[in-house]
Amino acid sequence: MRDRTASVRSRTLRLIRERGQVSRGEIGQVFGMDKKGVSLAVERLLDEGLVSVSGHRDSRVGRRSETLSINGAYGVSLGVDIGATHVIGVLSDMAGVVLDRASWDIRPGLPIELILEQMRAISSKLLSSRLVSSKHVSGRSSLPGARGSAVSAGVCVPGFVQPDAGVSLVAENIPGWKNVPVRDVLQRELGIPVSVEDSSRALAAAELWLGAARGVHDFIAVDLGYGIGMGMYCDGSLYRGGSWKAGEIGHTVAVPGGLPCACGGNGCLETIASGKAIARDARMGIQEGRSDLLRDLTKGSANAVTAQDVAVAAGMGDPFSIGLLDAAGSAVGIALANAAAVLDPSLIVLGGGLAAARSPYLHALATSWERHLMPALRAEMKLVVSGLGVDGSARGIALMAAQSMVEQGTAAAS
Ligand SMILES: [Zn+2]
Repeated sequence: MRDRTASVRSRTLRLIRERGQVSRGEIGQVFGMDKKGVSLAVERLLDEGLVSVSGHRDSRVGRRSETLSINGAYGVSLGVDIGATHVIGVLSDMAGVVLDRASWDIRPGLPIELILEQMRAISSKLLSSRLVSSKHVSGRSSLPGARGSAVSAGVCVPGFVQPDAGVSLVAENIPGWKNVPVRDVLQRELGIPVSVEDSSRALAAAELWLGAARGVHDFIAVDLGYGIGMGMYCDGSLYRGGSWKAGEIGHTVAVPGGLPCACGGNGCLETIASGKAIARDARMGIQEGRSDLLRDLTKGSANAVTAQDVAVAAGMGDPFSIGLLDAAGSAVGIALANAAAVLDPSLIVLGGGLAAARSPYLHALATSWERHLMPALRAEMKLVVSGLGVDGSARGIALMAAQSMVEQGTAAAS
């Protein structure tokens, strides 16, 4: 169910965000509101500067009607995506247009305090030009400059998060990462409210508001990287599950009794098809002398090999690397066919580093997905690659934070 308790203002704003631009007639149609009700809601949003008139289109009755869009100049929003191999920060305007970005690659196993320090440094750097004093800005302050004064911020982490408490409970692929109060840490640094969400859900929000899932009410966004996660919208609402743990497709069983997984289970999809698993198999392959190309690419340092190196080697025709990516992609295809049969989404969007690499992994995934998909679903469902690259989650959490700020809460918006 769409949230009926959300105010007309919030619901109208979300509709405009979801569709990019809407006419007053569409707002009335979607919410069953009369002209007067629509006019009140729209005038309020225009007065606040949250939306702006972006153009005109011909209506069915032959009149020109104005279209409304999110007013990007209302302010800026910072989104930070912490992963096992990166910290990515994106500064966007309120409509999601990227103004600046910064990223830092990390090697798995880095001390947690160092990762948090990098999060603080990237955040401060990106916001420094927007904040008069990092300690004295809150919500809509009066900053100088042509842009609006609103400033919001959000951080996303893979694994289990508790958005209302602002805590990242467990990120299996970041060793030692447990009950990390990311919201408090970043709030102390920036002096503004910070939203917290799971990275895959942030990716799903980005796809809904900026990407391939615009206007789609039932879809899955899959984050294919060092780990494998999934965010989903059901009937227009973000689905988090009963204990915030929904979407852990990476920890569905692919090989009964298989290799131990970081989650404590065995034979999870992540143990055979994630960036982490691909890197592990590549390392073994180099040590066993099965790929001269991979050995040369990593200058003989097998421990440094990444899934990205394997994608590069595959692109150069290396049979060992192609085989690795083929097997991994096929396994994900089966898992997604199973998820599709359970959830019946209209769309599946593939995001994250492994999707962005456009390697044989993707081809194998799509072929396997189609082969294993329940036949009754084949005609309706689409599988696409995200156009947001590796910044999808960071851009998504930035907009979740922006939406949350406007709705006057601190938890990420749904
Ligand atoms: Zn697992």
